Amino acid sequence: MSPSGLTFDAVQRLPKILLHDHLDSSIRPSTMIELAQEAGHELPADSPEKLRAAFRENANSGSLVKYLEVFDHITAVLQSRDALHRLGQEYVETLVEDGVVYAEPRWAPEQHLQGGLSLVEAVEAVQEGIDEGIRQAEAVGHTVVVDQLLCAMRMNDRAEEVADIVIEKHRRGVVGFDIAGPEDGFLPSRFRETFTRLTEALVPVTVHAGEAAGVESIREAVTAGRAHRLGHGIRVAEDIQSTELGEVARWVLERQIHLETSPTSNVHTGAVAAVTGKPHNVMSEHPFDALYRMGFNVGVNTDNRVVSDVTLTGELMELAEAFDYTATDLLTFQLNALEAGFASHEDKQRLREHVITSWSSSASPLANSSGTRTA
Ligand SMILES: [Zn+2]
Repeated sequence: MSPSGLTFDAVQRLPKILLHDHLDSSIRPSTMIELAQEAGHELPADSPEKLRAAFRENANSGSLVKYLEVFDHITAVLQSRDALHRLGQEYVETLVEDGVVYAEPRWAPEQHLQGGLSLVEAVEAVQEGIDEGIRQAEAVGHTVVVDQLLCAMRMNDRAEEVADIVIEKHRRGVVGFDIAGPEDGFLPSRFRETFTRLTEALVPVTVHAGEAAGVESIREAVTAGRAHRLGHGIRVAEDIQSTELGEVARWVLERQIHLETSPTSNVHTGAVAAVTGKPHNVMSEHPFDALYRMGFNVGVNTDNRVVSDVTLTGELMELAEAFDYTATDLLTFQLNALEAGFASHEDKQRLREHVITSWSSSASPLANSSGTRTA
């Protein structure tokens, strides 16, 4: 239970919104073991528990090389139509278990072509899995909306092809575009033409920025990238001295550009360390609370679930404990994310009503009445 009386079970039951969640690294350890056997790929552990522990150790080692090693194992087992279908289907199942009602799983189809699939075939395999997952959820009374976000890898040269698919499938399963992979050295201006083309096609984008690189990357994300949201974006805090905002921080605040923060991942990858200047950090040192109190539009995400061994409920509880948040605060983060989501207006209207009604009617057993804080 958090200091304000929130319990994990109560928060898990409430409808939540998840915008920054990498589809591939949401894979269940048990599924990974089965797929690895089929693909003849050797994993660092042979039971789900040991695999989870091994990944967590890598993620929290302070070494980016070790953190990224986990992704090599994940992509190795996700190279067939069947594997991607299963990934999509189980993705929905796991979300429903955690009370998520809207999600935008993001992934880079170009990393899943070693088994002979084309980019489009990979996207369609995932879509079929998602559709099946949604049907199964509805059959047992859960309504969930899941829209794909397609990423191009920053160090490769396939962004134009990925953008083609996003434009073709926009509003038909796919809602937006992102660039992922090494941020430092591969700034958004590298993809200026692609971003311009997506804007002209009226397709929204979010850009990983302000995670592994600082203020300049955020500036490029909102200028060259025309980003509607920032993937993490927490290093915008580097553009704030005491309460004095630099021009990039001011732009992000005044435009209310949504920050897709991912608390545990931000600690693991060193994004928090870049802000604090300390090599090791605890959750209470995350700039999330300072940004929230200054009026930045913040949301809470998982980023890489199996790598960091997190859930959305768990991340909300971590923040609630670190900053003494109440149910009102957690509801604010859900509504911030929903408004910033790329879902259709109709889906958002329906979801907003469901989220507000559920959180409001559960407010009293969720938390004690003291210390409600709004930004
Ligand atoms: Zn990410």
